Amino acid sequence: MPSVEELYQEIILEHNKHPRNFGVLMDATHSASGNNPLCGDEILVQVKIGNGRITGLKFTGQGCAISRASASMMTEALSGKPVDQAQATLARILDALNGRGDELTMEKDGDLVSIAGVRKFPARIKCATLAWHALGAALEGTDSVSTESTS
Ligand code: ZN
Repeated sequence: MPSVEELYQEIILEHNKHPRNFGVLMDATHSASGNNPLCGDEILVQVKIGNGRITGLKFTGQGCAISRASASMMTEALSGKPVDQAQATLARILDALNGRGDELTMEKDGDLVSIAGVRKFPARIKCATLAWHALGAALEGTDSVSTESTS
């Protein structure tokens, strides 16, 4: 039987191979690029907001498996959500990935629990949080963010 780590790795690799919501969002209302120079990850997150809700959420760019899988999972988790709820989730996930908050659970967070394994690998935390920082920047009206200027 595969270990939990192996299962998590499979989930990450699957998202990396078949990223959800990957591509250009033509009618985006907000967007921001995230750059992680330590790994070379560059991700553009595009959002469409209507009536206080995220009605469209896509990403493009290039990066390592962790950064792509995390972006893919983020778009799945937050598409269709009210903006305030999405921002609360974003804060909670960033805390969890940085090892500051509660651990993620399969019931609440689905595939995202696999990404939370990076807590054990500090160098990869910036890969995992990149798309989330970019989304946070987009929602705040900032057009780019670098992992070297966020904590
Ligand atoms: Zn990376």
